[in-house]
Amino acid sequence: MTAAHFSATYREARQRFLATAHAQGAAVESHIHPLKGAEGEEIATDTALVGAADAPCLFIVSSGTHGPEGFSGSACQLALLHDPLLQRAADQNKGGGGIAVLLVHAVNPYGFSHLKRTNEDNIDLNRNFNDFSQPYPANPVYEEIHELLVPKTWPPSQTNEEKLATAMARLAGQRTPGVSSGQAVHPDGLFYSGTAPAWSNKTVRAILRKHGTRRRHIAWIDVHTGLGPYGHGEKIFGRHSPETLARARAWWGRDLIVSSMAESVSPRTMGHITGCAPEECPGVAITPTTLEYGTLPNPAVRRALRGEAWLAGHPDAPDTLRAEIRRAARDAFYVDADDWKGMILGQFRAYALQTINGLAAEPK
Ligand SMILES: [Zn+2]
Repeated sequence: MTAAHFSATYREARQRFLATAHAQGAAVESHIHPLKGAEGEEIATDTALVGAADAPCLFIVSSGTHGPEGFSGSACQLALLHDPLLQRAADQNKGGGGIAVLLVHAVNPYGFSHLKRTNEDNIDLNRNFNDFSQPYPANPVYEEIHELLVPKTWPPSQTNEEKLATAMARLAGQRTPGVSSGQAVHPDGLFYSGTAPAWSNKTVRAILRKHGTRRRHIAWIDVHTGLGPYGHGEKIFGRHSPETLARARAWWGRDLIVSSMAESVSPRTMGHITGCAPEECPGVAITPTTLEYGTLPNPAVRRALRGEAWLAGHPDAPDTLRAEIRRAARDAFYVDADDWKGMILGQFRAYALQTINGLAAEPK
């Protein structure tokens, strides 16, 4: 029963990931976060390496860059750990030409446990992997709409909703930058980049340095949810060289969507997590992608993000309102329905096997 790979809380997801990784003989490491989870539990970014430390190819699957989006990424990782085809990929390695698989569980464990897309400092981690010696680009579109997106009171008034709808309609179609492209001006806003590398950023870079630098080739799927049609997995490809795009298309097919092109569900953004791989692993061929699954219609997802941002600026909010906002975030990024879960795992399995086959075909 595939839906059984999905957990109900971060704590449960972590326990199952660690137990299964140990049972499968993976090399497990834990990067403990300085803060505690929603249940007072220890939180961490855990990694499990299946296969040889010196395999020439490394296939990375990461989850929970955006907190509760980790329910799906974690289930994909658990399914992969149980998948006999993963073991076969690891076994091929015994001949010396194989592929190791590195699962990075809960890039943003604080957000995963506390049910918020951003991290402990309201940073959107997929806007945080920047060169902080350069100013983050201005985002006049976001600037224009910030006060409507994050109103003074929550839930928002009828007037606020009407004004926001009018403004969103006016701004629709402006993609460079768009509302969600990222901004570095409002720490209590949406899509906030932060002004320095976050804990998760430093942790992911350390994991890459440890596991990635000696490889010949790295493929990386970062699993997300919240954009696109219900249950559909969009394979998103960022800004990389034409050679990398050609290789990615050869592995993954023509339904790979280049995020800089108009048809992507994803906006053009700066500071993506996978962008740090070439920086930390120079000289290694990198083929990265974001897998983005649709959940609820866009207005419901946007409302959840707005509530989350409002709560970041109102730490004294009543418990009932806090719980309501957290619940809305969970529902916006994790659909607790068997059909949806089946679609998530089915598409992930195909994507993972394409990746393993692609890596296997690369010159060693
Ligand atoms: Zn995401």
